[in-house]
Amino acid sequence: MKYPELNTMAKRERQTKDLRCNTCGKEGTLAWTENENPMHAGGMIDPQVSTLSKGFILGPDSRRDSLPPVECGDCGTSVG
Ligand SMILES: [Zn+2]
Repeated sequence: MKYPELNTMAKRERQTKDLRCNTCGKEGTLAWTENENPMHAGGMIDPQVSTLSKGFILGPDSRRDSLPPVECGDCGTSVG
């Protein structure tokens, strides 16, 4: 008899967010994966950025319980 696979690892969920710089008007997209059920991962969504549109940069303040900040690569404005 086979047991169904137990959900021992948190499932990953893909998310996207539209980015827009309020200063220069540049638009882009941020895509990342995060834990679908943070309760099973110690409350950490553990975001892993997979795609960031050209012209935007990730801020240095990377944390496992929230999405890293994104800045406009041209003017340095925080976009999220
Ligand atoms: Zn900008």
